[in-house]
Amino acid sequence: MSDLDAVGGPAPSTSDALLESAPDAMVVVDPRGDIQLVNRQTEVLFGYDREQLLGRPVSLLLPPPDVTADRTFGVEYAPLTWSRTVGAAVELCGRRQDGTEFPADVSLSQVDTPSGILVSAVVRDATQRKRGEAAMLHQALHDALTGLPNRVLLDDRLAQALGRSRRAGTRVCVLFLDVDHLKVINDGRGHTAGDRVLRAVADRLRNTVRQGETVARFGGDEFVIVSEGVRDALQAQALGARIIEAFDAAVVVDGATLKVGVSVGIAVEDETATGESLLRDADAAMYRAKDQGRERVVIFDAGLRAAAMERLANEAAMRTALENSDFIVMYQPIVDLTDARVVGVEALARWQHPVKGMIDPGSFIPLAEETGLIVPLGAAILRTACSDVAAWKQAHPELSSLVLSVNLSARQLLTMELRSVVQQILEETRFPAGDLCLEITESVLLEDATASAWALRELKSLGIKIAVDDFGTGYSSLTYLKTFPVDSLKIDRSFVAGLDASDVNRGDRAIVAGIIDVAHAFGMTTVAEGVETYDQRAALKALGCELAQGYLWHAAMNSSTAVSWILQAGSMQGETAGEASAPGAKKVLLVEDDGRLRQLLRFLFEDHGFVVVGEASDGREAIGMARHFRPDVVILDLAMPGVGGLEALPLILAVDPLSKVVVMSALDAGEVADRAMAAGAGGYFVKGSDPALLLPYVDRLLEASAAN
Ligand code: C2E
Ligand code: CA
Ligand code: CA
Repeated sequence: MSDLDAVGGPAPSTSDALLESAPDAMVVVDPRGDIQLVNRQTEVLFGYDREQLLGRPVSLLLPPPDVTADRTFGVEYAPLTWSRTVGAAVELCGRRQDGTEFPADVSLSQVDTPSGILVSAVVRDATQRKRGEAAMLHQALHDALTGLPNRVLLDDRLAQALGRSRRAGTRVCVLFLDVDHLKVINDGRGHTAGDRVLRAVADRLRNTVRQGETVARFGGDEFVIVSEGVRDALQAQALGARIIEAFDAAVVVDGATLKVGVSVGIAVEDETATGESLLRDADAAMYRAKDQGRERVVIFDAGLRAAAMERLANEAAMRTALENSDFIVMYQPIVDLTDARVVGVEALARWQHPVKGMIDPGSFIPLAEETGLIVPLGAAILRTACSDVAAWKQAHPELSSLVLSVNLSARQLLTMELRSVVQQILEETRFPAGDLCLEITESVLLEDATASAWALRELKSLGIKIAVDDFGTGYSSLTYLKTFPVDSLKIDRSFVAGLDASDVNRGDRAIVAGIIDVAHAFGMTTVAEGVETYDQRAALKALGCELAQGYLWHAAMNSSTAVSWILQAGSMQGETAGEASAPGAKKVLLVEDDGRLRQLLRFLFEDHGFVVVGEASDGREAIGMARHFRPDVVILDLAMPGVGGLEALPLILAVDPLSKVVVMSALDAGEVADRAMAAGAGGYFVKGSDPALLLPYVDRLLEASAAN
């Protein structure tokens, strides 16, 4: 049986049979474009009977793609347009008998026959292929979780928007949006819940944006909206407010009603804007919004730009500082609460800035973490600390069992080489592994519990100890705790602060008691941080806390001061340094960030019969020390990095209104000094004048106050 019919064509043959069974439609066309031959599949695909097709123009099945091509079609359709593409595949539109159309992949080839050159076309329905491609394209350009455009598409839309706005004389406005506290949801309710929240946020944004606005997922919990046609910052502000309002109503996830807040940063196009700069600026504004207390809109302005520049400058400065070894390590003693012995020290980093003076870790560690600089910086700190303490141990056999605690940040913990870096430093400095304790904050461990547990085990295999820092401030998960090879928990300062008998904070007391119990149940010890008062010390001791550190003993000191303090404390057993003062001697607290000047003052005051009860390089430390030591005189530098003297002054006076505070400031800072005097400073001393003059001045002040 032969299904193959041809108008005056060749007789049925084997090749015809093959043609007939081919899975694709096949159409043979003569030089005029008339159909000479079709197979069975052609009938199936196009819904015609073969008889309806033979001798008819091929344009019936494959209409000319466009008007221009139409002209060539009529007579010369097949040979002229197709011969050029013979051997190639083209995509045309197929038209069925019922008038419906479909995309068709058409491969063409030339067939030499006795009756002349014919063109054969293999036609395949491309609907599936196109659908697959479209899906792939969609996938490549959209976020899988929310279905929103992803960064790739965002960049493209942003570029297009910028092109249009330049022509239209309007401005593109980029909103950077961050979901507040998503981590809390992830930690507390699991990642699936977090994903649902993100989807709900995406839906809400989709419903809030208007025609001409694109909303995209930037990554993580960050979304970006691109809006065109904004004329000024006021309109941009309104746009931001609209987004914040959209989140007034809570979202419902798994039957739970959650309040989702967003922080919004906005950048508005200016002459120099690029897509990249707008995203960066909006991001910077978003951070500012978060800093200001979340659920806010902040528009990027010159100030923010300056702040962003400063960040860049700081990053560069930090790199230089690392090269120049401007980072130094200070040591805070850790004592055993039962016998007041100093059993360890915590290494705390400082940046000795050539211009700005001593900078606290709170101001540079976060940036170092963000930029990744923390990895080399952390290694440098660990190396310095190990080599310092190894030297102490060498010189003083009584310090042979002193434990050195060093802080480790998230980025460091999750670097692959951490174990070998630590091992190498231990070998290099000949520091006994068993005397090293690495402190890792709780929140860091929980961010990626599995990876953390693994990293900790790697470290532990070196024989070192692990402490969980700031315990209680994160979302403490006892289940995780069990899986971490941890030796001790550090009770965060904020809980310790609530242990004073004066401000009976039962909540804090219960938390501290709970932490200590949990630690003991897991065979861990506890270290209390930020102990400033005798009451706190007594409460901790009563609750069974083993170790403690804080201004009650001493703030962090440089290497040589620390070692002499520890040796001295060892010989005083049970007393704290500040308590060992000659009866009747006046107590002075020196608050000055310039270490050399501080040392000079110490010598002067000591020569003069004063007891220097403490030294601080920052206002915050000064407050704690004032509370503990109740000094008669405080020498307070007004210009210090971190908490300055002017801020600390009222708090110091609140601790002890009887102590005299002499403020020091530069000659050209008279206005600040005036403010300090108005705030209750007892005296004012110009820095740069002979420090020896300070003493008679202080004497007179004390005499005057005694006479009152
Ligand atoms: P942390 O590990 O919780 O360190 C304790 C902080 O509390 C230190 O602040 C210390 O000076 C301060 N402190 C100690 N005793 C008292 C007290 O009695 N009262 C009060 N109010 N404060 C006290 P510091 O040195 O400014 O360090 C702040 C944080 O910076 C550290 O918190 C730690 O998280 C981080 N950090 C410091 N050095 C490094 C480091 O080398 N590497 C890493 N990754 N982080 C570091
Ligand atoms: Ca710590
Ligand atoms: Ca801590």
